[in-house]
Amino acid sequence: MSFYRKYRPQVFDEIDNSAVRERLLSLLSKDKTELPHAFLFTGPKGAGKTTAARLIAKLFNCTKPLKNGAPCGKCNACTAIADGRYLDVLELDAASNRGIDEIRTLREGIGLVPTSGTYKIYIIDEVHMLTTEAFNALLKTLEEPPPHAAFVLATTDPQKIPATIKSRCVHINFGRAQTEELLHGLARVVKEEKIDIADDALAFVASFADGAFRDAMKLLEQVSFEKGKLTKEKVQKLLAASEEKTIIAFFDALAAKDAKTGLDIVAQLVATGRDIRSFITECLVESEHRLVAAVTGKEKSQMTIDDLKDFIGKLTQAYGDLRISPIPQLPLELAVVEFCKISAISNKPPAAPSPTLTGLLTMEKLTEHWKDFIEAMKPYNNSIAGVLRSSRPKGVDGGIVTIEAFYSFHQEKLSEMKTRELIAQVLKKLFGEKVKVEVVLGKK
Ligand SMILES: [Zn+2]
Repeated sequence: MSFYRKYRPQVFDEIDNSAVRERLLSLLSKDKTELPHAFLFTGPKGAGKTTAARLIAKLFNCTKPLKNGAPCGKCNACTAIADGRYLDVLELDAASNRGIDEIRTLREGIGLVPTSGTYKIYIIDEVHMLTTEAFNALLKTLEEPPPHAAFVLATTDPQKIPATIKSRCVHINFGRAQTEELLHGLARVVKEEKIDIADDALAFVASFADGAFRDAMKLLEQVSFEKGKLTKEKVQKLLAASEEKTIIAFFDALAAKDAKTGLDIVAQLVATGRDIRSFITECLVESEHRLVAAVTGKEKSQMTIDDLKDFIGKLTQAYGDLRISPIPQLPLELAVVEFCKISAISNKPPAAPSPTLTGLLTMEKLTEHWKDFIEAMKPYNNSIAGVLRSSRPKGVDGGIVTIEAFYSFHQEKLSEMKTRELIAQVLKKLFGEKVKVEVVLGKK
């Protein structure tokens, strides 16, 4: 388990962001019936919004609260909530299908009394992605919530939340964490994991994380694999080297028009929790440097001036698209694919087939490229890729791709709304066609 998940604050006192901690602690004196029933958590990714949302769920449902009213973090309800297996805490992701099905399910189920606890808690992540229609449905629910329900809406983009929704919520802003707050969190991990690291080295890790707890934890995890005492110099070298190496490898791949390696590097960035926005910025800096060097003839560039210009255009586009993309790495991936494809086509005679698989998706094509499709799924979700490996395509008809699974738990896994959306997205990326995905159970 990653440090970030393993060391998520489980009780109010462990929240490292002091402003948030104070706001939440001020709720403890209230009787449960007086607690606000809707919260809006705003702030960047990795700031601890989901963690705090689960703490709110514990506050409502803890069966053995402490003297000051704080959830204990130990009772059955608290531990089930921490593990994400508490039936009355429903975590919905508004980014999938823009929340239409999610809000419908919410509206259908909200009237029912809680199964295990006293309160049903709805945590809606990326709530700004909801459609107007879904927002309206949510607003109706917020206006007349049943007494047994409470809501935590979380967003990275508060500007997009309608004022009517905002006015019904208690707003808590997570902001970027102060370096001291990050240090406070990191120190907890260092102690538990017995990591031998100098104080100034730890401070460097905190400053490198740019205000996000998740990034700070991931960086610490990355350097913790080194043997011996971690000095500041060592940590600086490790983190700088990994940054520089990645950029150079990325440009090497692009110069060779090797889209696969380019995409693998992006997948690694995602897996290690790197901020895609800052990576694109670094790539732009590097491109500018290479462009100037190529024009002035100071350095021989691997890429032609035209290629560099083209790539800078695509990176700038990707940077702008980040804001509206539900999948943060997607604009960068598109930039890689398009850059490599365009160059590849211009290098071939015009009659040659395009090396990407665009065009109408047929059963034949899908069967032929089933392995490529599974490969393409891996960076997004390795476990789904695994399930797909033991499934097979069954039909492509009228924009519907039917997949045949051979175990009912595979069928269930693949049939989840989120999973089908993801499969459709990867298929679109690979074959250029928007499809719907159905999953059936077949006999072996
Ligand atoms: Zn408890």
